Amino acid sequence: MTGPRVLVIGAGMSGLAMGVKLKAAGFDDFTILEKGSDVGGVWFWNRYPGLACDVPSLLYRYSFQNKTDWPNIFSSRDDILAYHRGVADDHDLWPHIRLDSEVVAARFAENAWHVETDAGEEFTADFLVAATGVLHHPNRPDIPGLDDFAGPVVHTARWDRGLDTTDRRVAIIGGGSTGVQITGALQPTARTLTLFQRSPQWVLWAPTTLPQPNFVTRLFRRRPALAQASFRAWVRASALFTDLTIHPGIKRRAVQSYARLCLRLIRDRDLRERLRPDYQPLCKRQVLSGNYFRAIQRPNVEVVTDRIDHVDATGIVTAGGNHHDVDIVVLATGFAAHNYMRPMNLTGRDGITIDEAWKSGPHAFAMTSIPGFPNFFTILGPNSPVGSIHLQTAAELTCDHIIRWISAFANGEMTTVEVSENATRRFNSDVVDALQPTVWNTGCESWYFKDDGTVDLWPFDLATLKQFLGQPLSSDYLITHPERGALGDQVG
Ligand code: NAP
Repeated sequence: MTGPRVLVIGAGMSGLAMGVKLKAAGFDDFTILEKGSDVGGVWFWNRYPGLACDVPSLLYRYSFQNKTDWPNIFSSRDDILAYHRGVADDHDLWPHIRLDSEVVAARFAENAWHVETDAGEEFTADFLVAATGVLHHPNRPDIPGLDDFAGPVVHTARWDRGLDTTDRRVAIIGGGSTGVQITGALQPTARTLTLFQRSPQWVLWAPTTLPQPNFVTRLFRRRPALAQASFRAWVRASALFTDLTIHPGIKRRAVQSYARLCLRLIRDRDLRERLRPDYQPLCKRQVLSGNYFRAIQRPNVEVVTDRIDHVDATGIVTAGGNHHDVDIVVLATGFAAHNYMRPMNLTGRDGITIDEAWKSGPHAFAMTSIPGFPNFFTILGPNSPVGSIHLQTAAELTCDHIIRWISAFANGEMTTVEVSENATRRFNSDVVDALQPTVWNTGCESWYFKDDGTVDLWPFDLATLKQFLGQPLSSDYLITHPERGALGDQVG
């Protein structure tokens, strides 16, 4: 079957899932435009030393792509990138993927999306899917004097492979998941490592560096059905994590107690107290590590909790006036997490731009549909469950939802679909209410918060997510039909 024409932006985890699902549904007229020079999204862009996934590999995978021979329980960046390339190979996606093609503009006109890349290429499609991810715009901090530093300054998300930190004096600014991982990786070979940790983070000790036992690999290789059953069991078990993040109770308290216990792995009382957060464990994105506590207690490491005042040519000066001489500055300062597909120039129906639609902050009905943007969907868009639900499951369910609309188009049941303002307003209000008892809302600052002070996460469980995406209420959508035309022809 050919047509409808579909354009997917991004060949990361979500974009590849969309490609696989389109092929499985028999739609072959699609192109995946990727700004990077490989597939894999965050696993392509991030290549800093020590990068691994803090979700166990037997769980960090698609439902449709088994892999059992992971070298480690928590796999390295290279192994995860290879897994994603394998998905493109096994599902014959490469002919559909255009690398080094950044979408700079997309406009909806005459019932179609007109898309332009940075190379000036133009595409037209019936459906446009933004699988552009959440964490892909590096946050370069606005620290006075940073540009005056004489040595290399590198953001972890744009790591320079030629940069040798061996026997150098390294500063790491930022102690989130990335800062913690890179601290553990650079400490053994750096001459000195100074970690600038503006706010302490709760860190859960976990065996993040353990290899996957051979018997597990052998067992799953011999019994693929068992591997599949174990994956499904892991996904079901992860509901426990969802539950404790969105509902207060004994399960949440148990994990929080473990976090407080882990802090005792810091033997020096002064350092321990300086690194004791004043907010609840799990409030920020939880950091896991098997080597951080050991690394920060080595003699070549200093943890600085004073605020940075400025940077000069030779080092970093804190608010108290202490000058820290360093050779290399590593920015582990995270991402602008709420940009989504921007700075792309995205224009929907009647000339409405995404910046106008999102002037009060990014929002999308059920994470995927935006009023004013017909036949346009996001995967892992605003309010996605990046802090609570198995991500590949959430992405796959969103792809299935989009495929349903594409199938309706292919069957001649509709020309365009657009979520209504009412449905979106109701959804947003339900989200705000449901966020109240979540752990993310217990008094910390994190990248989860949008400028309007609300949390950009999914505050419901997996069943609710399935409900929203599985059987959409037609009354929530404005649909045009081939024979009837005119948008605003609301169904239901
Ligand atoms: P992050 O969690 O946002 O942490 C950024 C760090 O930089 C924080 O410690 C922050 O301090 C600090 N910072 C920012 N601006 C600063 C400034 N001007 N001066 C001093 N310090 C500053 O970013 P991340 O560590 O890159 O992690 C982002 C997300 O990526 C994670 O939460 C996770 O979802 C994902 N990730 C996942 C993995 C994985 O294994 N799956 C690994 C890495 C990252 P404050 O806390 O004071 O703001």
